[in-house]
Amino acid sequence: MRVCVIGTGYVGLVTGVCLAHIGHQVICVDNNQEKVALMQSGKSPIYEPGLSEIMQSAMTAGKLEFTTNINNAIANSQILFIAVGTPVLPTGESDTRYVEAVARSIGLAINGKYKVIVNKSTVPIGSGDWVRQIINSEIEQRNLDQAPQFDVVSNPEFLREGSAIYDTFNPDRIVLGGNSKQAIDLMQQLYQPIVDRAIPPIDSLAELSNQTIPVVVTDLSSAETIKYAANSFLATKISFVNELANICDRVGADITQVAQGIGLDSRIGSKFLQAGIGWGGSCFPKDVSALVHTADDYGYDAELLKATVEVNTNQRLLAVEKLQQVLKILKGKTIGLLGLTFKPNTDDLRDAPAINIIQELKRLGAKVKAYDPLIQSAQHHPVLSTINLEKTPETLVEDCDALVLVTDWQEFQSWDYIQLAKLMNTPIIIDGRNYLNLDTMTAAGFHYIGIGRPTASNSFVTKRLQKNNTITVSNQVA
Ligand code: NAD
Repeated sequence: MRVCVIGTGYVGLVTGVCLAHIGHQVICVDNNQEKVALMQSGKSPIYEPGLSEIMQSAMTAGKLEFTTNINNAIANSQILFIAVGTPVLPTGESDTRYVEAVARSIGLAINGKYKVIVNKSTVPIGSGDWVRQIINSEIEQRNLDQAPQFDVVSNPEFLREGSAIYDTFNPDRIVLGGNSKQAIDLMQQLYQPIVDRAIPPIDSLAELSNQTIPVVVTDLSSAETIKYAANSFLATKISFVNELANICDRVGADITQVAQGIGLDSRIGSKFLQAGIGWGGSCFPKDVSALVHTADDYGYDAELLKATVEVNTNQRLLAVEKLQQVLKILKGKTIGLLGLTFKPNTDDLRDAPAINIIQELKRLGAKVKAYDPLIQSAQHHPVLSTINLEKTPETLVEDCDALVLVTDWQEFQSWDYIQLAKLMNTPIIIDGRNYLNLDTMTAAGFHYIGIGRPTASNSFVTKRLQKNNTITVSNQVA
């Protein structure tokens, strides 16, 4: 089938590349010329495991191309995906201006045979009808003899950054929302190779499961709601376990044991039960906020979702609070961050907890250093120009008074912490993801502090801290 994907970010590019890989003829459109030039040269503008490999092979096979010419791409395709960003506005609602601009472009260029317009972007409930209306109003102004025929389908995306290719070929479900049988039938045809597991092999991809992929067909607004409901549930589950971790911290229980104990209950499940310094990224914060806003529009106060957000906002600064508990004064101290991205295997810094932690540490007068395997230059985010970005574990920890593990990148498991401890002023680590082994870190000489876990103090560090704090107190008295 001939497919056009408009917007080549984390979702659009992955969708386009994967559809080309299963044999469709795909044209990806973006209004960012630099990005398009990069993709035309066979390079991916984003980091996603396996993406470059299948992108290049689909291009070589003549199945995938990139353009800034939206009119030609629309005119020559049967299925048109809208996959542009829907960031959050200061009011909490979704900024739908990019979706609107694309819908207008479709209305201006649509012609020929029947087309399906697919809302892949996460859009406020009711947007399917809104997109149809915008396209129709543009068509009307063209005074055509025969109006082009089309339907709008909602096809929310559930991929996880960092495993986006695997998730696209191995989805838990495919959701198709719409009122037209013709459109839903075409969408089912589009995804049939994925449902049938007829996917040409990819070297770098983990083996796909053999489980049946359910296709859930709904009306438009239910499909739109499913996306918000899924992300809000997952965010709430994390906020729940984080709240529990804070209680564990106070009563002396260990959240990792508690999570294991409750996660084995099949009604609860063990996924998304890892306590830490909170959720972030480009989806959870804006999607929960958009659902709260929608509820508000309809006179409903979504109290549980508001609490989910509030718990998360506080959780992000828990690492700073723990630093204050152990180091007391942060002014003049040097703190090293392990990881910056909101989760491993992505270069995405959108709404990452690291940003809030950096801002708070700077506000309190600390010097901040950071090491992230993928973020090596300040151009990724303005706040990075206020810190030292380090390229090795040794330069990161050198002269640090404490470390904070912000992202659970796998390479942090294999660092030589015995050597690193020796390079620090005080070998203290706040493990914001409960990712490192408490006993190993203690044996390496660290004073290890997790989230919701009892702390095994290292006597050497404790003595050094006591000495430093005594000096501080006596200075103050003097
Ligand atoms: P993104 O910001 O990474 O990419 C959006 C792309 O659209 C950019 O390349 C931009 O240049 C392009 N664009 C904007 N306006 C355009 C226009 N008029 N014409 C052509 N191109 C245009 O966004 P993303 O992370 O891929 O997210 C896209 C949508 O998918 C959002 O609604 C998001 O909520 C949803 N979503 C994202 C994820 C995720 O993990 N990132 C997962 C599920 C759903």
